[in-house]
Amino acid sequence: MSIKPDPSCDDDYDASSLSYDDAIHRILDAVTPIADSEIVPVHDAYDRILATSIESSINVPGHVNSAVDGYAIAANCLPKDSTATLPVIGTAFAGKPFEGNFDGHGAVRIMTGAVVPEGADLVVMQEHAIRAQDDITFDNRTRPGDNVRAAGEDIKRGEQVLASGQHIGPAELGLIASLGIAQVAVKRQLKVAFISTGDELKGVGETLAAGEIYDSNRYTLYGMLKRLNTEIIDFGVIEDQPDAVREALQNAAAQADLIITSGGVSVGEADYIKEILQEIGEVRFWKVAMKPGRPLAFGKIGEATFFGLPGNPVSVMVTFYQFVRPALLKLMGANQSDFLTVRARAANTLKKRPGRMEFQRGFLTRDDDGELLVATEKDQGSGILSSMTRANCFIVLPIDSGRVETGEYVSVQPFHGVV
Ligand code: AMP
Ligand code: MG
Repeated sequence: MSIKPDPSCDDDYDASSLSYDDAIHRILDAVTPIADSEIVPVHDAYDRILATSIESSINVPGHVNSAVDGYAIAANCLPKDSTATLPVIGTAFAGKPFEGNFDGHGAVRIMTGAVVPEGADLVVMQEHAIRAQDDITFDNRTRPGDNVRAAGEDIKRGEQVLASGQHIGPAELGLIASLGIAQVAVKRQLKVAFISTGDELKGVGETLAAGEIYDSNRYTLYGMLKRLNTEIIDFGVIEDQPDAVREALQNAAAQADLIITSGGVSVGEADYIKEILQEIGEVRFWKVAMKPGRPLAFGKIGEATFFGLPGNPVSVMVTFYQFVRPALLKLMGANQSDFLTVRARAANTLKKRPGRMEFQRGFLTRDDDGELLVATEKDQGSGILSSMTRANCFIVLPIDSGRVETGEYVSVQPFHGVV
């Protein structure tokens, strides 16, 4: 009788394992962005995904205006050398234009943002002019066009300013408002169900019996899903019992766009996820050549996308960020999904054997010359959740790489803005 290798966390080489790249491609190929959208007031569009492109119906700024406080004059009044003196014929404030006739002679006192009178083609900064009662005297250091902002210099009428799929953050929200747009079409929020499995799990506030632990995955998953602004459906803890798992999954599939379970995907006697998925949905169950994080179940139950994540707390976070997050972003119609990856020098040696891609927890700093330097967290065990709170990045070590020496370059994914 041959012994068939099953996914476990300890062996490094496994011919039946998928590479991380293969797994993520298969996942993204299987996910189609939702089509549903809704119209919301611009405020409520914050942290949502734009469902249409946005074109500007106006020039921004709408008028030629002054970039400084000073005096608007015509270029032909600039002195060739020495200085010139002109009478001040009126004032232009932001929102209150000069109302007289500018005939190309004289100077208009002008404030930042005020409309530059027609016929004027530059603004002399007030610091470069000497005011004496109704006249100003200035030298020739200002050039035609100086200190004048062209109409449409930020955005031209008809120009596309945001593409469909853009995540709406503070800058996008302000940009939309700068066009006077009061309502925006955004993608519907995704509904994500999560289920913790395990007879050993207790809720916070409960007392632990021997061998029991608190369900922490439910909280890390809650946080990770909140950050993506999804609607969360919390199924709590489901015991390791086929009927209970089946019922929870069927229930979740009826309500959610995506279902996440943690635990129960290895090959222990209480691991029912794979079996039940096969029964009620389509399963792809993989060993992924990565650490931490295998095994991983992926598939569909009805219309819902399914991820069965491992139970270990760090594995949950790593597989969420490396697989679930890109899938969710694609599903919600977002057009950006990648972690920013930077190169940093290793501050210490990194233990690694070829055969599996590793996502080690690290701490990114700069050395005295400003170069990025990354140190590993001492304990890389997949159950050491505290290491995720001390780390500020993943160190990504490719499948073939072995031990990394101090000073060598490695790829790093900073948590900033993501984790
Ligand atoms: P499993 O994949 O179910 O064999 O779980 C692997 C490890 O993760 C075990 O030590 C579990 O006790 C632990 N684990 C599973 N689910 C959770 C959870 N929701 N919170 C914290 N630890 C968990
Ligand atoms: Mg379990």
